[in-house]
Parts: sequence; C-alpha cells; structure tokens
Amino acid sequence: MTELRWLKKPRCNECGQEIIEPHLWCLNCNNLISIQPIKGPKKSNINLKSMWSLNSFLPSFSKIVSLVEGNTPIIQIKNIPEIKGLNVKLEFRNPTSSFRDRASSLIVSDALSKKYNEIIGASTGSFSISLAAYTSHAALKSTAFIPGNLELSKIEQLKMYGTKIVDTNKNLDESIKSAKNYALEQKSYFPTPNDNLLTIEGQKTIGLELILQLANIENVIIPRGSGTLILSIFRGFEDAIESGWIKKYPKIFAVSLKSSSNSHIAESLEMKAPPLLDHIKKIIKKTKGKELPIDALDMIKNASEVAKKEGLFIEPASASVIAAAKKLVHDEIDPQSTVAILTGSGLNALNKFAFQMRNLKKTVWGLSETSTRRFEILNIIAEKKNTTHGYAIWVSLGKKKTIQSIYHHLDSLNQDGLIEFKEVGNTKKCLITKKGYELLNKMREIIDLREI
Ligand SMILES: [Zn+2]
Repeated sequence: MTELRWLKKPRCNECGQEIIEPHLWCLNCNNLISIQPIKGPKKSNINLKSMWSLNSFLPSFSKIVSLVEGNTPIIQIKNIPEIKGLNVKLEFRNPTSSFRDRASSLIVSDALSKKYNEIIGASTGSFSISLAAYTSHAALKSTAFIPGNLELSKIEQLKMYGTKIVDTNKNLDESIKSAKNYALEQKSYFPTPNDNLLTIEGQKTIGLELILQLANIENVIIPRGSGTLILSIFRGFEDAIESGWIKKYPKIFAVSLKSSSNSHIAESLEMKAPPLLDHIKKIIKKTKGKELPIDALDMIKNASEVAKKEGLFIEPASASVIAAAKKLVHDEIDPQSTVAILTGSGLNALNKFAFQMRNLKKTVWGLSETSTRRFEILNIIAEKKNTTHGYAIWVSLGKKKTIQSIYHHLDSLNQDGLIEFKEVGNTKKCLITKKGYELLNKMREIIDLREI
C-alpha cells in the first residue's frame, strides 16, 4: 500500500499526534486534525488551468485521477439591481456540476494509488455523484449508501455512472454508519466527506483560485452545511497568506438554513449541529465575518431569479448565498469586492423546482399526466386517512381540472380495486383498499414521493 505523500504532516491541533491517513478527526482525542499553512510559489508563477495547476499546495499520489476540475470562472451579476457587480464563482462548472469534484479528484487518486477496488459513498447526493464519476474514470467499483429523502434526479445520476445503490431509507447520519460498517467488512475505501482531510485539501484550491482570480477580494459568502467548505476555503487563504499572495484574510460570511425552514429544499445545508461548528465559528470571528440564516423558500425564490435574470441555473443551497448577499449589501459589503460561491447546479434539484413551480402536491417523473393525476388522487385519499370525497380531492388538487374529471378518475381507481366507496349521509366517501395501499407503497419506494 502506497503511503500518501503530504507536503506537511497532518497533526492534531490538541494532542499533537501526527497522522498519515487522511482523517479530519484525531483518533486519540477526537479533536480536529490540520495541516500547517504551506508556502507555495509566487502568484505570477502559477498558470491556472485546473485545480492541479496548484499541485505545489497539494499532497502527491503515485496515480492521479482527474477530469479537469477547478479553475472555475468568476463572473459578475448584471441584471439584479440590488447586487449588481457581485462576483459569483461558478463551482457548478466542475465535471459533475459541483465543487465536490475537487475533493473527489484527490480521494479517488488516493484510493487508486493504494490499490483499492471499491469506493463507498454516503452523502446527500452531490458528493456521491462526484465520487461515482471519478471512480468510473479510475475504472474502480462504487457503492453509494443513500438517505431516504434523496432526490430522484440524484439517484438517476448515480445509476448512470454504474454505482451500486443501497437505499438505507434512514437519515444521513444513519446512512453514513451503515456505509462505514459495510466498508470495514468489504475492506473498501470509505471517504466520509466530513471526516476526510483530502476533502479539505482539495476544496482549499477554491480559496487559492479566488486570490489568483480577483485582485481586490474583501468578502466571501459561502454556504455552511457541514462546514467543510468554509474550513477548506479558509485553508486556501492560510496558504495564500503564507505564500505572500495576500496580507489579511477576506471576511467569511457563512450562510446557514433558518431553523424554522422546510429543510428538504436544501439538504446539504440541513445539518443543525455539525461537528465542525465550533471551529467554523472561530474562523468566522477571526476573519471578522458573520453567520446568516436564510429561509429555504427564499433560496428557491433566489435560484429562480438568478436563472431568469442571469442565465445561471443553481440549486437552492447555492442560491442561499445570493439571498445572503442581498441582506449584506445594504450596509456591510461592496458587491464588487465580494464573491459568492455558487456550489452546485440546479439540475441536481429538478424535482424541488418542479414541485415549487407547479404548485403540485407531488411530482411524478416519467408518468403521463393521467397516471400522475390518478396517483396523486390515491395519495390524497391515503393521506387523509380514508375520509375524503370527490369535492375535497378536487380542492386539494387546486381545482385545476374539472370536478367531473376527478369523479372519472375515482371511478377508474374503484374499477381497478384500488379504492372503494362508502355512502355517508349525502356524500360518497373514498376508502383506499389493501391493494391500493400496496401499490402506493411500491410507488413510494421507487419514486421521490416523500413529503417535501
Ligand atoms: Zn488528538
């Protein structure tokens, strides 16, 4: 097994233990592992073509797996008056449309160098998708343990890369636990995004690129999530200071999800108390930035505005930085010396946008309109615990079609044995049958029909 070749040995901040394997948390005392700032070449000596143009800041591997990640462009917002001139770094222009590719390139290079056959992923999606792509490129096998509420559009992408999918039907933390156990049994490579120093070292190239690309950068707006992206960009700034590229840290503004929000809209921002939280708070304070909680629906609104006015289709978690910029611009920042990181593509969140825009209770991809409607009706009957009738269903569906069409669908569901009618007073109530329940549950297993 080939050892990782670090430029500086990772070391525990607390007990000083040095490590070789890319953990983020000390096995001795459970504190954060980090690498001391690295002094790289002069700014003018770097010809930025991809993340690997910054290899003088990165660990080295016997084999490198790259799909040409990094060197993502920065452009300015033009048509949204309140944030005109704001710089946005288009991290969704990476090979799998997310900043995670920077981490995957290092992680899969490590796995390949160490001659593993299989890589295990467990995350809310973008990271699993990214790992799957790089694993395929390296001709290795991949397995993804996915949480129960993962979006259909993400699952489809995993399948395209040939990943074996294990639907844990549990939350993210539980999925990570299952994945870890499986990886131990199978002796597979398991890079948890939140416990991997290569994640941080790969993603820190965003911070280094920001300094190379923008001369006057004073503020950076970053989605918080588990905190690894903030830690990474800060690491990039540390290296930039050590190398004499900048004198002081740009302010870091961390965007989190407002706790009252409907969290499934931005799964990657969902974690309420990530293990890195204390450390992130220190970083924010050190750079004189602050944390901004944003409402999930605000994210959708901003994502759709940025798509319509700027031609950039980003996922809701990414749009959180636009909402934050609007709040900050009044008195705290100058848009022209600020950059917001647009982490991922809207294509990864198609179902969520469709749900919001069509104002449908459920969206079923791949089914005809009639089948979708029958399915929606069955679902409404099931959710209302068998006490609903034609008129109430029509109202639930927003009175979009005629009430007659609802009765027509009810009759056909009845003929198929999926519902039955019961006369109560003057109204005919619908009851879902055992067969109806079984069908509904099967559908729920294969499509994205959990509550959004
Ligand atoms: Zn320690």
